[in-house]
Amino acid sequence: MATTSHSIEQEKNPWEQQRARFNLAAEKLNLDEGLWRVLRQPNREIIVHIPVMMDNGQLEVFTGYRVQHSIARGPAKGGVRYAPDVTLDEVRALASWMTWKCAVVNIPFGGAKGGIICDPKQMSRGELERMTRRYTSELIEFIGPEKDVPAPDVNTNEQTMAWMMDTYSMHMRQTVTAVVTGKPLNMGGSRGRREATGRGVMIICDESIKHLKMARESTRVIIQGFGNVGSNAALLMHKAGYKVIGIGEWDGGLYNSKGIDIQALWDHRQKEGTIHGFKGAERVATEDLLVTECEILVPAATENVITSANADQVKAKVLVEGANGPTTAAADDILADKHVFVMPDILANAGGVTASYFEWVQDRQGYFWKESVVNSQLEDIMVSSFEDVVRYAGTHHVNNRIAAYMLAIDRVAYTIRQRGIYA
Ligand code: GLU
Repeated sequence: MATTSHSIEQEKNPWEQQRARFNLAAEKLNLDEGLWRVLRQPNREIIVHIPVMMDNGQLEVFTGYRVQHSIARGPAKGGVRYAPDVTLDEVRALASWMTWKCAVVNIPFGGAKGGIICDPKQMSRGELERMTRRYTSELIEFIGPEKDVPAPDVNTNEQTMAWMMDTYSMHMRQTVTAVVTGKPLNMGGSRGRREATGRGVMIICDESIKHLKMARESTRVIIQGFGNVGSNAALLMHKAGYKVIGIGEWDGGLYNSKGIDIQALWDHRQKEGTIHGFKGAERVATEDLLVTECEILVPAATENVITSANADQVKAKVLVEGANGPTTAAADDILADKHVFVMPDILANAGGVTASYFEWVQDRQGYFWKESVVNSQLEDIMVSSFEDVVRYAGTHHVNNRIAAYMLAIDRVAYTIRQRGIYA
């Protein structure tokens, strides 16, 4: 019993999952042993303990992390998440996924991630602001437009980025918009950034069905998660003609075999603050949605949703990972045996960081693009990255995930070799 629970725990450890895929890809690449040692560890791991005055007058201390995995290809880049179950191993994994993600879509960034152990649902706006500002000031010498550029992630948003930008700017004695991305539009944010991860997910779905000779109208889609990624992907895909038949949230899901009117669901959520109580679909358990018949399954919430416990029951033909790390390494083999066409997170959800790249460029140019320009540049990058990964998988006889890792590791290793090791 003890061994089983230990191995399930290990299966669900994001850092172990990252390591398993990295090792496999590095082996296939015949990666130089020295570079292997360099890339398997993050460059820098920062732990901060942040005192925050709570509304009730009590002083609370929160633990926060920022892990910078690599700056070989450019400034470190990656979001900040707020959640009670944040761990250093999780942030480490997410930071290295950012390195691989930026390399897969070939944008000039390394990888980083941050997180604070807290329960944002229980905190007031003032508490969140004070925590965010103190976290930013603790990291002041480690972040910056040329060093490390944070962005939103789970439970953080444009407002969080506005506080981070302001705090950094106060320390620098000047407004520095390019220090974070995912900001509000009026302070250096980019048009199209908010929808970009969801739009990227749709583009990857479009390319996948084209590749598999399927059509939008006959493609049933189930999306787990209705946060920034899931809700935007669902709305865009619904408008584009896909049949979105299921939406799963952490506290239950919705199903309608004829398709859900996602615009009406958005309106309902806007009014009620939840997807529940929506008349146009029946209530179902989210775990059941993951194994319900459909053509495309999009896990777009958190890690460890498809594991060795349910992968063999997945009925989707295509799995498009809107979240980071939704599938465990053990589940990869099961899905491969079932010939599920997997579009890995480091490609499928790269639309967000790609639009972040555009935001960073616009901030540094001081010239802001039309939304149509952002969207068409995003599409170019996502489509060519899809083609790169699928071609690489074909040439090297590996699945799409390992192909994406190989492509990314190869690009990062090439740069490190060319730069040389400073001693
Ligand atoms: N948090 C997002 C991700 O995991 C976006 C990161 C960014 O824009 O830097 O890709």
